[in-house]
Amino acid sequence: MPEPYHVWLSEIMLQQTTVAAVIPYYERFVRRFPTVAALAAAPLDDVLSAWAGLGYYARARNLHACAQAVAAAGGFPRDLAGLRALPGIGDYTARAVGAIAFGVAAVPVDGNVERVVARLFGVTDRLPVAKPKLRGLADRLGADPDAVARPGDFAQALFDLGATVCTPAAPRCALCPWMAGCAARRGGIAAELPRRDAKPERPLRHGVHFWLLDAAGNVLLRRRPESGLLGGMTELPGTDWRAVPWDADEALVLAPMPAAWRRAGQVRHGFTHFALTIELFAARVERVAAEGFLHPVEELHAAALPSVMRKCVAMAAGNAAALSSRGADMSLRGADMSVRKAKRGSNPVHE
Ligand code: SF4
Repeated sequence: MPEPYHVWLSEIMLQQTTVAAVIPYYERFVRRFPTVAALAAAPLDDVLSAWAGLGYYARARNLHACAQAVAAAGGFPRDLAGLRALPGIGDYTARAVGAIAFGVAAVPVDGNVERVVARLFGVTDRLPVAKPKLRGLADRLGADPDAVARPGDFAQALFDLGATVCTPAAPRCALCPWMAGCAARRGGIAAELPRRDAKPERPLRHGVHFWLLDAAGNVLLRRRPESGLLGGMTELPGTDWRAVPWDADEALVLAPMPAAWRRAGQVRHGFTHFALTIELFAARVERVAAEGFLHPVEELHAAALPSVMRKCVAMAAGNAAALSSRGADMSLRGADMSVRKAKRGSNPVHE
């Protein structure tokens, strides 16, 4: 049986993210935290920093909490109810870990499996309403004696079939082992399934953030509240993100301290449920006297910055015109180097 820690870690990383994007993160993570006990013992900041760029930071926080629960219990529970009770583990992950790591007869249903099942049984109901029906049909497939005998192999074969043969736009039915019995192929509607309700357009929000440097080449940062979006992550100080654009005068009242603030560019970022536009202001002062903490610009690559903040850093670094003094330009060059290092570890996932 595969190592439960590896199965669980990869399943958490793969939620909302592609295999290709996950592989380098997974390999780095396992090198840095080789066991669930090592992950449990690591400071949360180290975990968030190793996760930075993968998005959905609540997952990293739950990952850490789950590792601590598992380490305290002496190992992963081996049944679905026990797995579901752990932080960050829902029905899908419990089934995937249960089937692959412990041989529990359960079918994990992700988007790939939903697609295969919808086509195989010719389900034309729309998602998300069709989800329970597709789950029931997946369970019916999983009740096949061969699937019951090797639940982990069956689950992974389904994942692979969905990812490589029963692909979204152009299913390769001629290569499919289920071709003969597939209702959608017979009906000529394979590429149309599964049907789904149109997604509502993402609302747009606006924020202003501040890049404040001191004479020693440090930038002012702060930590976001523990709960909520990007909980516990580090950010440049800024305003709320709201539906109405910020007027510059209105926003500068909320700047961390009085300074010669200048516009340093605009950053756009897509989160799952909204799109965000950030107006970035930059200034340099001799000494920072504001809430937050100072961080050397040259070491920003090691900070637990979410992707949206890395974009802000890149914008500030690439816009040396935002600041005029030679000292500031030197600091910004340091930031540029940090950003390039950071980009090596990033992926295009929207957070
Ligand atoms: Fe998918 Fe085609 Fe196989 Fe049906 S026959 S399950 S549509 S690949």
